[in-house]
Amino acid sequence: MPASDRTRYIEIDVQSALTHMDNARMPGMKWSLNPYRGCRHGCVYCYARYTHTFLELDPSADFAQTVFVKRNLASALRRDLRQSTWRRERISIGTATDPYQPVEGRCQLTRGALLVLREQLTPAGLVTKNTLALRDADIMASLAQAAGFHLIMSITTLDEALARDLEPDVPSPQQRLRAVRELAQAGVPVSVAAAPVLPGITDGEAQLAALFEAAYDHGADVAFYQPFRMYAATRVSLFQYLHAHRPDLLEPYRRAYDTAQDPPSPYRQQLRERIQRIRQRLGPRHPQPDPVPAGQLSLGL
Ligand code: SF4
Repeated sequence: MPASDRTRYIEIDVQSALTHMDNARMPGMKWSLNPYRGCRHGCVYCYARYTHTFLELDPSADFAQTVFVKRNLASALRRDLRQSTWRRERISIGTATDPYQPVEGRCQLTRGALLVLREQLTPAGLVTKNTLALRDADIMASLAQAAGFHLIMSITTLDEALARDLEPDVPSPQQRLRAVRELAQAGVPVSVAAAPVLPGITDGEAQLAALFEAAYDHGADVAFYQPFRMYAATRVSLFQYLHAHRPDLLEPYRRAYDTAQDPPSPYRQQLRERIQRIRQRLGPRHPQPDPVPAGQLSLGL
C-alpha cells in the first residue's frame, strides 16, 4: 500500500510564513516559504526528511505519512510582507516540502500565498514535482510580470519505472514534461532541475542527455543538477530502496557515503564533465542527435 493511503494531516497555525535562510550552499536564497511540513510524495532520496526530526517524528516512516498544514499561511504571509522592515526580497517556495503535493488540491495554501505575493509585489521562485502547479499558471504568469517569478520542475529521470520506485507518489516524468510545456505556453518562466543525480542509478550519460534534451524540447532550460547528498535522515529510505532494487550498489554507497555527505571528489568531477559534454552537445533548445555513450559512472571505490 503506498504511503499516501495512510497519510494523516494535522492543521497548525504559524506566527510567520517566512523562514530566514542562512545556507552557504544556497547564497541566492534568503527567505523560504513552505506551506506544509512533510511531503506525501515520499521520494526515497528526499533531503528534507530531517525536518521531521525537529518534531521528534521518524524521518523515514513519518515524513510522507504525517503532514502538517499551515492553515493560516496567507494571513501570516500578508503580515510578514506588510512589516516596515520588509524589502521585497525574493522568496523561495518549496525548499523543504513540495508546495503542490496532493493536499494542496483542497487546501490551496500555495495558491493563497501566490495571490498575496502578487498583491504585495514580491518576487518568488518555486520548485515542485507536481503537475498541480498548472492550476495556478495564470497567477504565476501575472506575478512574473508584476514582480518576478520562476518555476523549477524537478525531474530526475525519464525512466517511468525507475521514477515510480524513487518517487512513489509523484506524477510521471512525461506528465511533468507536459506541464513544463503548458506552463511555458501560459507565460510562466520555467526550468527543469535534474536533481539529485543518484550515482549508478540516474547518472548514465545517455539518461542525462535524454533528460536535458526533453527539457529543451518542452521549452525549458535545465536550471541545475546536483549529485546526491546523503543526509543522516535520508539513509534509511535510501538504503531500503537499494536493498529492494539495487543490492549491487549497497556496498559502493556504504563506502562512498560512510563518513561524508557528498560522493567522492573524483565522482563529482566526472559528473561535472559529463554534464558539460551534454550541454556542449545539445545546447539549450538546439538538441542534436549525436549518439552518446551509455553507462553509469563508477563511485570510484
Ligand atoms: S517532492 Fe520534494 S519534498 Fe517531497 S518527498 Fe520528494 S524530494 Fe522531498
